[in-house]
Amino acid sequence: MKRVAIIGGGISGLSAAFTLEKHRRAGAWLEYVVYESTPRLGGVLVTERVDGCLIEAGPDSFLTEKPWASDLCREVGLGDQLIGSNDADRKTYILVKGRLALIPDGLMFMVPTKIMPTVLSPLFSVRTKLRMAGEWFHPPRKADADETVAAFVERHYGPEMVDRLADPLLSGVYGGEASQLSVRAVLPRFAEMEASHGSLGRAMLAARKRMAQASKVPARPLFTSLKDGMQQLVDAVASRLPASALRTNTSVHAVQSSQEGWTVTAGNSNHFDAIIMAAPAQIAAELLRITSGELASELAAIQYTSSVTINLGYDRTVRDALPPGFGFLVPRSEGKRMLAATFVHNKFPHRAPDDRALLRCFVGGARNEQILQMPDAELIRIICEELQQIIGLTAEPLFTRVYRWKGAMAQYGVGHLERLQRIETLLQQFPGLTLAGNAYRGIGVPDCVRSGTEAANKALLGVGLTEIAPPVLSR
Ligand SMILES: Cc1cc2nc3c(=O)[nH]c(=O)nc-3n(C[C@H](O)[C@H](O)[C@H](O)COP(=O)(O)OP(=O)(O)OC[C@H]3O[C@@H](n4cnc5c(N)ncnc54)[C@H](O)[C@@H]3O)c2cc1C
Repeated sequence: MKRVAIIGGGISGLSAAFTLEKHRRAGAWLEYVVYESTPRLGGVLVTERVDGCLIEAGPDSFLTEKPWASDLCREVGLGDQLIGSNDADRKTYILVKGRLALIPDGLMFMVPTKIMPTVLSPLFSVRTKLRMAGEWFHPPRKADADETVAAFVERHYGPEMVDRLADPLLSGVYGGEASQLSVRAVLPRFAEMEASHGSLGRAMLAARKRMAQASKVPARPLFTSLKDGMQQLVDAVASRLPASALRTNTSVHAVQSSQEGWTVTAGNSNHFDAIIMAAPAQIAAELLRITSGELASELAAIQYTSSVTINLGYDRTVRDALPPGFGFLVPRSEGKRMLAATFVHNKFPHRAPDDRALLRCFVGGARNEQILQMPDAELIRIICEELQQIIGLTAEPLFTRVYRWKGAMAQYGVGHLERLQRIETLLQQFPGLTLAGNAYRGIGVPDCVRSGTEAANKALLGVGLTEIAPPVLSR
């Protein structure tokens, strides 16, 4: 009997456990344990219902174009629970000099693909619009070394594009800053476009033309979620795992390798043939320091930022008065604490009754770690004050919920991909050890599902169990 320990019961660890479970049910002589330090599984995936509203404490959805999370939902019998974002209402604003400016139609991240909406948009100055026109003639450039997203974007479109779009968009996804994040790790497609076409505008149009010719399938919604929230995925996966394999409230505080395998200490010590490390890289570094100081140093160098989501419920009058669309982003140059706000009731169906408005605001990020220490009442006061300044919202919320996520968002700094290569080389010395989680090759839920699945497959290989075609576990 081969034994595998999974350390961390977030979506990465659960995806790994689900893969092992499929093999176990198909007859692999295998046993596994999921260690989770908190009382519940799911990590940052938490859904709560308040006053008829569905509140997501962490992620509210995942990108539809990345299939791994939707695939997992279908495998656990949630195919009929998948919902798409209300893309007919998909408008997003950027705060520019105290006023909301709509992101113009045809802008793909920061690349304009439609001329008139961009020309007429108040989002950019004339200078930046001229840079956008000039970008069309940007020569192909094979980057020898990694660089920051800010340097890359500035080369193409100038500093205003960094401040007004690249930075706020990245702080929404990574809680990070364009001036710190690696273009190769965070925007690999853009780096490839620059190498092949020079101009991102020309490359984007060529790619869209190819896609339009290849596919007659109607466009899918940008985001996918679940009717009852992201917690549904956690519950469905967990319900397919044997209760005896799930150890919540059990923090792993030591891991040691030996000739015979691995010893995991969490209260008492247990022997395993393989380990899937699905806890954040900083924790993995601490746990693996005795095993390999070099590996631990590489893992510890992956930085994290924190995030706070502040959810506010209002009545129908607020809902009617809000601007249409999904919400707005706030560039740092605007001098606010808030990074973004989502109009949740517009973004997805089933999130709030018709007589309620639900807003979800974000604070935190790389430059504002100390905000995590603020009491809830102070955070809510700041957010309400800023909502009043930005959208003129003076109503008192009917309810509020604050969720703090300390060190939850991995930051892929310049040189991240090279670091991953070094980590992979170091891991070759430890065939029984695999890593999963948002610290490595993608921070989104689908990437984490993929990383957990791949880690489980590698662990199976490591213990010599590979021959079984796993069944689908819809119940
Ligand atoms: C506020 C917020 C909003 C987000 N929004 C989106 C979104 O809309 N779409 C999207 O795709 N992604 C989003 N993300 C990113 C995505 O949700 C995360 O990257 C992903 O869920 C991380 O999963 P994980 O399992 O790797 O890590 P985690 O969820 O952090 O799980 C790691 C687990 O390890 C446990 N652990 C730690 N140490 C130990 C130990 N010593 N022993 C045992 N267990 C331990 C922790 O308690 C935790 O449960 C968001 C993230 C946050 C924080």
